[in-house]
Amino acid sequence: MGGSVMSEQLVDRFGRVHRDLRISLTDRCSLRCTYCMPAEGVPWLARSTMLSTEEIVHVARVGVSLGITEIRLTGGEPLLRVDIVDVVRRLTALTGPAGSPEVSLTTNALRLPGLASDLKDAGLSRVNISLDTLDRAKFLELTRRDKLVETLAGIAAADAAGLHPVKINAVAMRGVNDDEVVALTRFAVDRGYQMRFIEQMPLDAGHTWDRAEMVTQAEILERLRSAFRLEEVPGRGAAPAELWTVDGGPATVGVIASVTAPFCGACDRLRLTADGQLRACLFSQTETNVRDLLRGSSDAPDAAALGIGPGQALRVGATAPPRPAPAAVDVDTALADAYRRCLAGKKAGHDIDDPSFLQPDRPMSAIGG
Ligand code: SAM
Ligand code: SF4
Repeated sequence: MGGSVMSEQLVDRFGRVHRDLRISLTDRCSLRCTYCMPAEGVPWLARSTMLSTEEIVHVARVGVSLGITEIRLTGGEPLLRVDIVDVVRRLTALTGPAGSPEVSLTTNALRLPGLASDLKDAGLSRVNISLDTLDRAKFLELTRRDKLVETLAGIAAADAAGLHPVKINAVAMRGVNDDEVVALTRFAVDRGYQMRFIEQMPLDAGHTWDRAEMVTQAEILERLRSAFRLEEVPGRGAAPAELWTVDGGPATVGVIASVTAPFCGACDRLRLTADGQLRACLFSQTETNVRDLLRGSSDAPDAAALGIGPGQALRVGATAPPRPAPAAVDVDTALADAYRRCLAGKKAGHDIDDPSFLQPDRPMSAIGG
């Protein structure tokens, strides 16, 4: 691939240079966290609309040629993808003007005991793991699955495989786990992990988010300061988490205050959904369809074309059958153009606090957190 169209950076109309691509590998998940998915009746993405591994790597390759230097795999639960190790290997092998991208992963950790060392060998740099509570009954209530022991085993496996730094994410919820802010931080600090608390965002499938109920950054810090001496770490850059050293360091704790202290001004992220839509923001109301560009038409292959009958599952990660492809260079140019069109519509901020704010139709599990 060459030519000027592929070498220009991804800059939006506010001058933000985009270097981070979050790729959702599936909207399926092995847990049902209350702030993310309903207990039942999830409107799954149709299998036929989901990108094949080849297609994902193609979109990423063009992104890397345009200056993407970081790729985060997410979902849904990205480790449910059967060829996850291959996906990581192929993405870490891409090269662009700044070399190969750093590839990391956000996961619920359930499949890490069997996968962590293969992922490390494939070039995965590190993992962010969700853990909202250390209490088994609460874990069951929160995720609707009795899997705390397995999650903790997955965290230990990531550590043992050298996927450092291990970052632990918890969504703070009033009356649910806000009393565990200190305990979770101690758990992480004692093991050399970084604890990060996330303000709950209006991205749940049930649209039940309530601003007044949300645990704010200020409240999280107040709880932390009751047990630890915190000092702010300068030089945050485009990172969503603001960091503090714990008791003089080197351990740090972070807060991702997307609602009360939005970091949109420094945002450098773009998202690719599992069904091939580029999104400029978690909260975008519009998407740029790259699936149709890749498939050369607006017709996605239907279930019959993929060889599956009604009620049959297609393995996540299975590859759609080959179809006549448009000339490769044309598709690369069209994809580069799609990245730019997507960015052209990016707003200055998410405006969650604005009365006109609309929650996106897709839940977090179908966007990719
Ligand atoms: N299944 C993986 C996991 O849980 O880490 C990856 C996908 S999950 C959607 C990515 C991150 O989004 C997790 O850290 C999760 O806690 C966070 N998340 C999900 N719904 C959220 C919400 N409504 N507000 C804030 N964070 C949310
Ligand atoms: Fe699954 Fe992650 Fe959503 Fe929990 S937060 S339901 S683990 S995608």
